[in-house]
Amino acid sequence: MNKQVLILGGGYGGLLSALTVRKYLKAGEADVTLVNRYPEHQLVTELHRLAAGNVKEQAVALPLEKLLRGQEVRLKIGTAENIDPVAKLVRLADRTTLRYDTLVIALGSETAFFGIPGLAENSFTLKSVDDAKRIRAHLESKLDAYARTKEDKDASIVVGGGGLTGVEAVGELADELPDWCRARGIEPEDIRLYCVEAGPSILAGFPPELVDRARESLESRGVRFVTGQPVTEVRGTEIVLRDGTSIEAGTLIWAGGVQGHPVVSSSGIELSRGRAVVTECLQSVSHPDIFVAGDSAIVLAEDGRPYPPSAQLAWQMGETAGFNIFASFRQTAMKPFRPVMSGTLASLGRRDGVATIGARRIPLKGFPASAMKEASHIRYLSHIKGLFSLAY
Ligand SMILES: Cc1cc2nc3c(=O)[nH]c(=O)nc-3n(C[C@H](O)[C@H](O)[C@H](O)COP(=O)(O)OP(=O)(O)OC[C@H]3O[C@@H](n4cnc5c(N)ncnc54)[C@H](O)[C@@H]3O)c2cc1C
Repeated sequence: MNKQVLILGGGYGGLLSALTVRKYLKAGEADVTLVNRYPEHQLVTELHRLAAGNVKEQAVALPLEKLLRGQEVRLKIGTAENIDPVAKLVRLADRTTLRYDTLVIALGSETAFFGIPGLAENSFTLKSVDDAKRIRAHLESKLDAYARTKEDKDASIVVGGGGLTGVEAVGELADELPDWCRARGIEPEDIRLYCVEAGPSILAGFPPELVDRARESLESRGVRFVTGQPVTEVRGTEIVLRDGTSIEAGTLIWAGGVQGHPVVSSSGIELSRGRAVVTECLQSVSHPDIFVAGDSAIVLAEDGRPYPPSAQLAWQMGETAGFNIFASFRQTAMKPFRPVMSGTLASLGRRDGVATIGARRIPLKGFPASAMKEASHIRYLSHIKGLFSLAY
């Protein structure tokens, strides 16, 4: 009987694991099954654009069936609920049980609410296409309401978190909302778009001159930044900050952080802060028949600090895990994970951006940064043979 390779998650880490395993292992050598809760490979890095109505759903939700065509990978749409690393079984929500010889966990991460009272209940997250569509529908309904009532809170939007995700989201909204307003006879100046960040500055980790550039660019389009003020409680539409002040807003989008996936944290494999601890070849340190790719694992950089979770890290981990499964089956040397970090790029809406490029962190701003971001998106699509999504 063929060996069973089971891959959990069809995001950046999972898809690239599947494609890479199949690049090396012939169909007769192993059965490869990929489990994902949606039929699509969702481009999470583009979700803020979908939420702001700047791209169509088909541009960010690519059918896995199409991406895996001809690859001899069995696709199972389902939700993994439990991993039993001793019996080597995975149980799905539909009560199916899948056996594996080698498992890849690439389930991504979940939004972290840090125990802030009322936050989870009263905010929107931005981790899936459904989340993005919910945000868009809600914003449209709030603007419709504002056109009738002129109540400030209907035109007030708070994005919680001034990291990459939060800043990209406000940038996209700052560009798109004026058109939505004009279509409803609302003055764009009536919109109050806030970005609230607990730390002293937005875009932590970016050089100060790029942070200033991002702030100026977004402020010139009406974004109001509140920094050094953690959200301490949310009561309905009232967002309370540490200094006791509050913002009344009908929309709160929470992009304040991520945490380990619950299926991983309850699996019994060795963890650090809810994420799998892996060897340099990306095997679980406690269960070598389990490889982990993407946000589900913690990977340390040369300075001993964990890399921030990112798509570029996830898909390179997927490729290394895929190759190492082949190497372990053939009993040849596995490859240590050595990521190539091309840089960090933050879009600031449709026509602006900031970036640091390469290991020397060369700063870029404006059109060159936007162009780099677009180029890296297209490079990824070309890599997974997903360029068809550019037609939308
Ligand atoms: C709005 C936003 C913007 C971002 N922008 C950038 C950026 O510009 N650059 C960058 O490098 N990074 C960016 N990131 C971070 C990046 O998207 C993540 O680091 C990356 O998606 C991690 O890849 P992954 O494969 O680990 O997880 P994911 O891409 O999240 O894939 C996980 C997969 O597992 C599936 N899944 C989850 N739970 C289950 C389950 N129980 N059963 C079955 N399937 C399940 C999900 O549906 C998904 O398909 C951004 C993140 C967000 C939210």
